[in-house]
Amino acid sequence: MSIPIVPQRYIWVDGKLVQWGDAKIHIISHALHYGTGVFEGMRAYKTEMGTAIFRFKEHIKRFFDSAKFLKIHIGFSSSELLDACRTVLEQNDLEEAYIRPIAFKDCMAMGLNASKCASKVVIAAWPWSTYLGDAYTKGARCMISSWRRMPSFSFPTVAKICGSYVNSQFAKMEAVEHGYDEAIMLDVRGYVSEGSGENIFVVKGNRLMTPPLSASVLPGITRDTIMTLASRAGYYVGEEDITVGELLTSDELFLTGTAAEVTPVVEVNGHKIGDGKPGKVTLEMQRAYEAVTRGKDNVHLQWLELLNT
Ligand code: PMP
Repeated sequence: MSIPIVPQRYIWVDGKLVQWGDAKIHIISHALHYGTGVFEGMRAYKTEMGTAIFRFKEHIKRFFDSAKFLKIHIGFSSSELLDACRTVLEQNDLEEAYIRPIAFKDCMAMGLNASKCASKVVIAAWPWSTYLGDAYTKGARCMISSWRRMPSFSFPTVAKICGSYVNSQFAKMEAVEHGYDEAIMLDVRGYVSEGSGENIFVVKGNRLMTPPLSASVLPGITRDTIMTLASRAGYYVGEEDITVGELLTSDELFLTGTAAEVTPVVEVNGHKIGDGKPGKVTLEMQRAYEAVTRGKDNVHLQWLELLNT
């Protein structure tokens, strides 16, 4: 099952607030047929200084970068999109939310060359607890997917392009059908790549390793946050190719993502990871991420985009 969303009052569509139920597209829109859209997933957290979007600048940069691949022209500046996020949160009375900007080709033209196709920019937000639910505390049970993550020579793995998420969906559906919480995808070479919607970290002693971008991973903003927080906490942090053997014999494993935050992994394909419970370093990283997103870590206050709502 995908996770149901509680409808909110308004969605921002190309500069205007539209009633949630009226935010519709035509069935002949290009994006529906060919996946020609790009999106972001950000979170706004409540802090003592007010509501703040975590690492808005990095998310919005990735949004613009993703759009370039599809030649989607986003006719708004990042500060206009920040204002739009503020409006969406305010008008829906949301102090904390998951925020979903999406830009997609909505022209009614068929055929694959969509470079001249018109597009829309939309921002929706809703309350969303951590993506993998109970696994946040209990630890996730993961399956190594039989689907490989599409390689960077077939699509830009650095971008969040709607159509490319079909690859992730195959992996996620397969894992859930087999009774697991999440899939771990390998790259075309057989090295560990990432979860269907999260990056992955392996812990061995005081070393934290995560696959390099050349393993077809999305350059996750949470991944970058954890790399920074872990080095600051004195761990050795490296981007290294990880074999399935290294994955299964790691002391600890965890997934990172805006939606999943820092979720421990306690089992992969029936193999217990460590002692089969969320590990010490993972929990330390979970706490550190909670602190930094809620404005309780004074070193990284620059990561908070305060909205003053
Ligand atoms: N990998 C994939 C495939 C994702 O969809 C996501 C979620 N955006 C991530 C990794 C994690 O990225 P971030 O930390 O920027 O949310």
